[in-house]
Amino acid sequence: PQMADRLTRIAIVSEDKCKPKKCRQECKKRCPVVKTGKLCIEVSPAAKLAFISEELCIGCGICVKKCPFDAIEIINLPKDLEKDTTHCYGPNTFKLHRLPVPRPGQVLGLVGTNGIGKSTALKVLAGKLKPNLGRFKNPPDWQEILTYFRGSELQNYFTRILEDNLKAIIKPQYVDHIPKAVQGNVGQVLEQKDERDMKNELCVDLELNQVIDRNVGDLSGGELQRFAIAVVAVQSAEIYMFDEPSSYLDVKQRLKAARVIRSLLRSNR
Ligand code: SF4
Ligand code: SF4
Repeated sequence: PQMADRLTRIAIVSEDKCKPKKCRQECKKRCPVVKTGKLCIEVSPAAKLAFISEELCIGCGICVKKCPFDAIEIINLPKDLEKDTTHCYGPNTFKLHRLPVPRPGQVLGLVGTNGIGKSTALKVLAGKLKPNLGRFKNPPDWQEILTYFRGSELQNYFTRILEDNLKAIIKPQYVDHIPKAVQGNVGQVLEQKDERDMKNELCVDLELNQVIDRNVGDLSGGELQRFAIAVVAVQSAEIYMFDEPSSYLDVKQRLKAARVIRSLLRSNR
């Protein structure tokens, strides 16, 4: 129990795997907190999904082992992390703790399962989302945020972002939303954005020449992804962010996309 007191946790029940109609609700039956009469796990044979209360759960992990379909994940986090909350969208939702720090001349990769905060971290680092330090009811202003990050590399980073002397461009996660925001054909859009005189080279590397005259709205998922990477890469910036650059791409295209991303380091020194 002492250990548990110093921990806080995230409980994830997989919508795909949890099948209360096909199991015997082993999770609930074996949960020691449920045995004391508290509603730590709520599920019935008629339910769609088990619900786990993160407040009541003590993080013992028994349900994780007993579920026949491997549907549960319990992630124990040190309670100390709570003071390191960078952003939280609202009550009972995911919290982003700390932030990765981009450094000049380096590629920084963020890897992790869905919902872990990668996109949120990118939005914060791009200056597009003001971090609320977990205070969604009473969000801090930038002065307070800078004070919070004082003494860390992030203070200097955010100061520069705010003063507009650090330009960050972000490739959005959902490329299928792009056609709504972008008018014209592939060639025209790239031409307009081409601050680095890299359009032709990137169209070869990202296999875009075959769709150069096509309307952005008529591109397939993979074409949109490669187009989106090219739109970011033709522009001049200090920081380039690529949120999920590999979805829709085959292995060869992923390698090429990785090469394009890496090439931005060399040519922008
Ligand atoms: S989490 Fe596992 S044991 Fe619990 S209801 Fe879902 S499938 Fe059954
Ligand atoms: S980890 Fe333990 S306390 Fe938490 S829900 Fe599972 S069985 Fe219950």
